[in-house]
Amino acid sequence: MTTDVNENLLAWLKDAHAMEQQAEHMLKAQASRIDHYPELKARLESHLQETLGQQALVEGCIKRLNGSASVFKDLAGRMTAFAQAAGGMTQHDEVVKGAIAGYVFENLEIACYTSLIAAAREAGDSETERVCEGILEQEKSMSTWMLNHLPTVTHDFLVRSATPGQKAKV
Ligand code: MG
Ligand code: FE
Repeated sequence: MTTDVNENLLAWLKDAHAMEQQAEHMLKAQASRIDHYPELKARLESHLQETLGQQALVEGCIKRLNGSASVFKDLAGRMTAFAQAAGGMTQHDEVVKGAIAGYVFENLEIACYTSLIAAAREAGDSETERVCEGILEQEKSMSTWMLNHLPTVTHDFLVRSATPGQKAKV
C-alpha cells in the first residue's frame, strides 16, 4: 500500500487545521481568565485573531486539494489532551504554567508548518507553500514573544504572590 505526496499533504493540512482549532480554544481560555497580566492578555488576544485567520487559510488549502471539512472534528481530538492541560489549568501558578505551555504549543506549530512547507514543495503546491510560510512567521513571532516575556511573567507572578492582598494566579 502506498500513499502519494498529495494524500499526505492533505492529511497534514487537516491535522494543522485541528491544531489551530485547539490553539483557538487554548488562547481563548487563557486570555479570558487573565486579569492582572495585561500585556500577556493582549498578546494572547492578538494571536487568537491571527489563529482564526490561519484556520481560514489552512481550510482554503484543504478545499483547493478537494478535501472535506467534515473530518476536522475527529482530528481535533488528537490535540485535546495537550490543550486541556494548557488551557484548563487551575493551579495557583497557572499564569506561569500557561505561558510555558503556550510557548511549547507555538513550537509544535512551528515544527508542523516547517514540515508542511517541505511537503507542499514536494507536491508542487506553491500556494500551500506560500500560505504556510506566512503562518510560520506568525508562529515564530508568537514563540519569540512568549519566550522573551517568560521572565517578566514569572517576576510579576512572584512579586504579586508575595504581596498581601494581591491576586497572583491569573
Ligand atoms: Mg497557529
Ligand atoms: Fe500559534
